[in-house]
Amino acid sequence: MAVTLDLAAATPAVAKKQSLIGMDRVQLSEALASFGLTEKQIRMRVSQLWNWLYVNGVTDFDDMLNISKGLREQLKEKFVLNRPEIVSEQVSSDGTRKWLFRFTDPEQPNMPPVDVETVYIPEEDRGTLCVSSQVGCTLTCTFCHTGTQKLVRNLTAGEIVSQVLMARERLGDFPGGTRPTDGVVPKKGLRTITNVVMMGMGEPLYNYEHVKQAMLLMSDGEGISLSKRRITLSTSGVVPFIEKVGEETGVMLAISLHAVRDELRDILVPINKKYPLEQLLQACRDYPGLSNAKRITFEYVMLKGINDSIADAKALVKMLDGIPAKINLIPFNPWPGSEYECSSWAQIEKFADVVNIAGYASPVRTPRGRDIFAACGQLKSETERMTKKDRDAITAAH
Ligand code: SAH
Ligand code: SF4
Repeated sequence: MAVTLDLAAATPAVAKKQSLIGMDRVQLSEALASFGLTEKQIRMRVSQLWNWLYVNGVTDFDDMLNISKGLREQLKEKFVLNRPEIVSEQVSSDGTRKWLFRFTDPEQPNMPPVDVETVYIPEEDRGTLCVSSQVGCTLTCTFCHTGTQKLVRNLTAGEIVSQVLMARERLGDFPGGTRPTDGVVPKKGLRTITNVVMMGMGEPLYNYEHVKQAMLLMSDGEGISLSKRRITLSTSGVVPFIEKVGEETGVMLAISLHAVRDELRDILVPINKKYPLEQLLQACRDYPGLSNAKRITFEYVMLKGINDSIADAKALVKMLDGIPAKINLIPFNPWPGSEYECSSWAQIEKFADVVNIAGYASPVRTPRGRDIFAACGQLKSETERMTKKDRDAITAAH
């Protein structure tokens, strides 16, 4: 006999509280409106809260020293400063860091928590944070590990921006913080996180409103203050939203191209059946603000015997002719059960030569953090055991 458990009845009700992290200024003002403050006071409090949350990274209302004790108590009753729990933090031999964060939605406290991966990639002149937008993905690109995990849910703006706050905290990037000594390399004087790429789990344009709000928070000059030129949104090609990204956020765009023919792209990036190459390239040509100083990055994963021929390379540069573009060749990163192999280095070099001769500089992206499964397309929040074959494939690819 089937037994249905009424979980809602079994779990004690937990009070719903909204998180202030992720709200824009209008929402914060609305949040404060119920406390009987004048408009002028609200404006002042919003600016103080903004500073505490995004510049100082505080996680406790009691640390907000310029906010009166009475108001802090009122805030505590209704709101939280929701940050995720750190399930794990791994540091790769090349200094890349991967966190598994666990989020509980404070507005739905009885729902199961979700696990999200965020990756930090340090280089001498920059530190890039790869941020997730969804738990899982509705799309099923055949070479991508996240594509094998069904969509669990969209992340909220607060959960997206919290990944940046958590990473800043762990990297000692907030005032008074200390940088860890292992693995962090950006030069002294630089912040540890200088760039954000929306290239973690999920398709950001299928969670557009939340991603947009989070990116606007990241680029707010009085808060996290990252330049829009240093925030990149990567999409598999959700054409109807591309123009909006340019108009409403002004961030940099990356397109997961991966194939130069519709028949092949239909297989590798199945959303191509809905928005084929011609439509995608037209949306790129029309991207607002495009210029030689603001180019679109075209990502191209190198799959042995699938899309890595010299003819493909020639077709690629021909296809992008006239679009201010950068080309990023990504060596395929294997994952447990993946069907593809990475192209040989010799083939990647030959392919890159064609791209180089056409005027695109340093097009190959060095794989980072493969040993901790932090490289592009390896993210998936369910822990899976690796078989020996998969471990060998990773070692061979290094
Ligand atoms: N959903 C978005 C952003 C996340 S994926 C998108 O598809 O653009 C970030 C980048 O990693 C994309 O270019 C994606 O195609 C690439 N990628 C996915 N799986 C990969 C793998 N196994 N090896 C290398 N790159 C991969
Ligand atoms: Fe989703 Fe991007 Fe992976 Fe495709 S490549 S399955 S869109 S995360």
